Amino acid sequence: MAENEKETLLRADHVKVYFKGKSRKDGTVKAVDDISLDIRKGETFGVVGESGCGKSTLGRTLIRLIDPTEGHIYLNGEDISALKGAELKNMRRKMQIIFQDPSACLNPRRTVRQILMEPFEIHKMDKGENVEERIMELLQLVGLDSYHLSRYPHELSGGQKQRIGIARALALKPDLIVCDEAVSALDVSVQAQVLNLLQDLKKKLGLTYFFISHNLNVVYQVSDRVGVMYLGKMVEIADYDKLYEKRYHPYTEALLSAIPQVNQEDQKARIHLEGEVPSPTNPPSGCRFHTRCPKACDRCRTEEPALREVAPGHLVACHLYDK
Ligand code: SF4
Repeated sequence: MAENEKETLLRADHVKVYFKGKSRKDGTVKAVDDISLDIRKGETFGVVGESGCGKSTLGRTLIRLIDPTEGHIYLNGEDISALKGAELKNMRRKMQIIFQDPSACLNPRRTVRQILMEPFEIHKMDKGENVEERIMELLQLVGLDSYHLSRYPHELSGGQKQRIGIARALALKPDLIVCDEAVSALDVSVQAQVLNLLQDLKKKLGLTYFFISHNLNVVYQVSDRVGVMYLGKMVEIADYDKLYEKRYHPYTEALLSAIPQVNQEDQKARIHLEGEVPSPTNPPSGCRFHTRCPKACDRCRTEEPALREVAPGHLVACHLYDK
């Protein structure tokens, strides 16, 4: 089955996430501003963008750790955007998250066994007959063994801690896992091992990932499709190989020019973007990228470009490609 014919697992429809400041003077942070996308069953949808572009907020909103201000989120066709209480808790079993810093998200006072028991406790499944067996199975899935059960997080390496974070995310057999900068805090050699592990688990367990990173190189290694975010907006979405061959948006072009290539002849001239990323409290009018875009024209300053299909399956928000 072709990638674009795969069934949709999760769909975001015009999702906005705004955070109000403490006082009127602080304004409203438009962290995610009108994003629509679909995540297909069994794919890795990678999201890349500079720090503060809203990618983590988007990931957490899709799995309802943050409430959307507007818009709808559908999981297997069911609108989950307004679920509350027991229904929300039940739905959360199907969607899990792996965080960036494994040291910060594992309770230092609990052993590995207790940490892996947490999801079962939360969902009152810890008295089941097979829980101990399942915990051993989880450890084996992530390449650890019974020796680690009685260890505390401070006795583990960074890579081992992240493996425990992955095992915990897998405990309740989720359909979708948000990997939020899941390898960014690890050494490069450990990063490769954890990325390989995530790829193996995806194949073995039929998982779907929403993979967030500021590092386009890492996103390229694992993704089937890639979305590029800038200041709360999705500016380009395409299959990873199509995006590598041809990117349309000037922001994607600049991000890609920063990746070092093995072959010197493939190396693009580095595009240095001028200026800082503007504040999401008061984003620029028109195209939000116009204050830093080397190709901006007058229209870009007043009219916001829509995300349109410019080639099969390749969506871009830029006036340069309007028909
Ligand atoms: Fe640049 Fe204009 Fe395209 Fe925005 S719409 S990316 S400012 S050319």
